[in-house]
Amino acid sequence: MKPDSFPIAIDLAARVRTAVAAELDLLLEDLATWVDVDTPGGDVGALDGLAHVLAHACERYGLEPECVGSPAGLYLHAGLRGTGNARVALLCHHDTVFPLGTAVARPFRRDDERCYGPGVADMKGGIAVAVHAARALAAGPRPFALLEVVSVPDEESRPGPPATLERLASFDAVLCLECGRPGGEVVSARKGAAWLRVHTEGRAAHAGEAPRAGRNVALALAREALRLAELDASADGLTVQITELEAGEGLNTVPSRGFLSADVRAATQADLAVVTARIRDFPAYDGISLRYEDLGGPPPFERTSSTTLLAEAAIWLGASLGHDFGEAVAGGVSDGSWTASHGIPTLDGLGPVGGDDHSPDEYVETDSFAIRAGVVAGLVAAVDAGLLAR
Ligand SMILES: [Zn+2]
Repeated sequence: MKPDSFPIAIDLAARVRTAVAAELDLLLEDLATWVDVDTPGGDVGALDGLAHVLAHACERYGLEPECVGSPAGLYLHAGLRGTGNARVALLCHHDTVFPLGTAVARPFRRDDERCYGPGVADMKGGIAVAVHAARALAAGPRPFALLEVVSVPDEESRPGPPATLERLASFDAVLCLECGRPGGEVVSARKGAAWLRVHTEGRAAHAGEAPRAGRNVALALAREALRLAELDASADGLTVQITELEAGEGLNTVPSRGFLSADVRAATQADLAVVTARIRDFPAYDGISLRYEDLGGPPPFERTSSTTLLAEAAIWLGASLGHDFGEAVAGGVSDGSWTASHGIPTLDGLGPVGGDDHSPDEYVETDSFAIRAGVVAGLVAAVDAGLLAR
């Protein structure tokens, strides 16, 4: 797909970059406000407080916010109607991994090049790009039918899909605003995870008086741990890690109960299916039963043809703004994994350029906000102009 097929996308990227750069102080003020409110996952009061603050900002900037209730807190969906055909979501989350008190201890701050603070990259900086790109687009032109800024309250801790995933099912594209990699790369693939537990039941007996009467699950679990570990690297990029191992009732008892847990990661759903089937295929252990428990896990975000088209477009839009970057495969998971595996064309890593997520060194590069807003706006216009049309 040639960039010159989409002059409107290149034009809009430049306009939005200029508009956001001209009011960068406003964006940074918003970001500081949002970073300085701690929003640990699970703290519904704190999360809903920030959801309302975000909703008000969206409303002020011309969007129509709606807060949708869920047990984990409010999901924000803020729409902007346009004059085109495409429906595109800008997907964010406003929970962080940091406990209450973090923002007081190390509030938002910036130096010449970077901004810091809890969640500044993961991913309040991404919310700032989404909201301010939408703000600039509200001024027109609006080459889309619907642009929806979405921010969820439970991305960091939820093992299943976002509560409002179905609302996005008919969207033409989802642009996920987790931060760009340190070199600016967008994210066009992520591994998926399968978390599982193997429960065992044997027979307890006195370890000294009647050891032969027992059926020892500790030995069975040890063999299972070694069998599973051998499946590590059985496909390209596939990993199997034993993460928990427990058995036994006491010092002088043949253990009759126990379990092990494993974390399995793979690049494709097919690889995950093959390896978990092999894990479930337990060998026989005399007098011992084994039971597989599926603990869920996010699916792989596979680099489909539509993801490839979005990534290529992001790269040429970046180049048109003088910002060269490539694409990357990420090890961690995001809600982009859920939208992509739901069949919605998805690209991730469109937030500001940054890194060191989940650590006190977390940062974003201040210069990257306006450029990423431009790339996001250009992608919306490119989708509307038929980038993903078959
Ligand atoms: Zn995140």
